[in-house]
Amino acid sequence: MPEDIAEQRRKLKKLIEELEQRRGRHTELVTVYVPAGSSITDMMGQLRNEQGTAENIKSKATRKNVVNALDKIIQHLKLYKRTPANGLAAFCGNVSEKEGVDDLQLWTLEPPDQLFTKLYWCDQRFDLDPLRDMVKEKEIYGLFVIDSTDADAGMLRGKRVSVLSHMDSPVPSKIAAGGQSAARFERVRQGLIEDHMKRAASMFREQFEAEDVRGVIVGGPGPMKEKFVEGDYLSDSLKKKIIGVKDIGYTGDHGLDELFNRSQDILKEAAVAKEKEIVKGFFDELHRGGKAVYGLNEVRKAIEMGAAATVLVSEKAELEEVEFLCDCGFSEKTIVKKSEKSSHTCKQCSKNMKVVGEREMVEALEELAATTGAKVVHISRDTAEGEQLYQVGGIGALLRYKI
Ligand SMILES: [Zn+2]
Repeated sequence: MPEDIAEQRRKLKKLIEELEQRRGRHTELVTVYVPAGSSITDMMGQLRNEQGTAENIKSKATRKNVVNALDKIIQHLKLYKRTPANGLAAFCGNVSEKEGVDDLQLWTLEPPDQLFTKLYWCDQRFDLDPLRDMVKEKEIYGLFVIDSTDADAGMLRGKRVSVLSHMDSPVPSKIAAGGQSAARFERVRQGLIEDHMKRAASMFREQFEAEDVRGVIVGGPGPMKEKFVEGDYLSDSLKKKIIGVKDIGYTGDHGLDELFNRSQDILKEAAVAKEKEIVKGFFDELHRGGKAVYGLNEVRKAIEMGAAATVLVSEKAELEEVEFLCDCGFSEKTIVKKSEKSSHTCKQCSKNMKVVGEREMVEALEELAATTGAKVVHISRDTAEGEQLYQVGGIGALLRYKI
């Protein structure tokens, strides 16, 4: 990953951390996402309408805060002639912690990745999910499209395809130019094909030999792709990276998109293989008594200590983060089994506690893990390994060091 992207992602993480601390006194913090390729003028129109609606808010203080926040965002959007390439995010609201004191603040961001979400949202918190999704670690796959006329290399990160490089081929079409003998023409053509393959192979190596490319899918409309994959153009280590070959109708940008669309089966399989590898590594460590822990409390502790490197969570683990409040005044925020939240008792007076807030555990864990640099991996129950993880409680962690 180039340095500037890593740096942008680091900044984005910091912004998320800062914004998730902010709370409005009421439903008055405004989140606006303008997706890449959409009209910023349309969004301004929508926000003006929302301003009109906000005039009906009963509480005078809340009404003023929402209207002012919208106004500030509209003023900011006016600075743009068009939507920035990756879209735009704006967060604005009165974030003052003192009643009666105003502190209207605006944060804006041109995100490092394309924004797909269109949103106007008013709440006590900012909606940060689209940004969180952006900083999540994503697997990188290579896409390679080849036929006799050209070759294209692309990168797949998450669900996003980007073009890395394009190469035209010098190979003429099959019809011989006038005057040449068919045999001579064919000899020349074969020589040019050979050159094209070699150049394509060096493009392939340049783009995909990096370690973080997990696998490469090769596609093309004709037989050239098989020749390329099976011939002696690529080294054995590069050939090992190829996880599938697909027939597609196009080359170029369209070909890369088509290759991605037709490769869902291959990508699914690769994801399953990756999952199995992680869970197997986890159980190996566990059996060895090494750098692994399991169970909700142990994993939580490991994350809080900063010892967790990778947190494994079963997709269907019935766990939730719940905020409890007791009549005696004692409150607690903790992760519990969904089935046990109604019988949670107070540490102070042993009475049953009331549920005052809840969210899915994965969301809570990701937030916690993000503060210590741990990675959260979702594990399905589709594999024997995944089922095994579910059976031990659905949560485990691989550690940086033994605790
Ligand atoms: Zn109590």
